[in-house]
Amino acid sequence: MLITIKRLKTSNRIRMELVKCDACGHKQEVELTVAHKIIPEDVAIRYGITDSTSVTLCIYCSNEIRDWYRGRVSTLTYDSGLKKFRPKASNEIRKEYQKTYQDFVDYKGLRRKRFR
Ligand SMILES: [Zn+2]
Repeated sequence: MLITIKRLKTSNRIRMELVKCDACGHKQEVELTVAHKIIPEDVAIRYGITDSTSVTLCIYCSNEIRDWYRGRVSTLTYDSGLKKFRPKASNEIRKEYQKTYQDFVDYKGLRRKRFR
């Protein structure tokens, strides 16, 4: 009877798959990770962007990046020719999100080093 329980525990451990978060690098159980689109789906639809890259984030980074985007992504740009702000075009929005995501990854990398 004891042997049976031990075997069950071992087989559960084997099935628990660990996945690395693309932002902070921590390994999490697959259930605690999220497939995150660098360009959020509603933005991609609005700007007709069909090739948004998907990354794997832990649930902590997934929650954090929403606030990160909110404070940093700008949908307007100053046009020096027109001498006024105008809405960004889809290629500019794509670059904005990719840069903001990369800044987040760099920030998480810096934090990870600091706490070692
Ligand atoms: Zn993470």
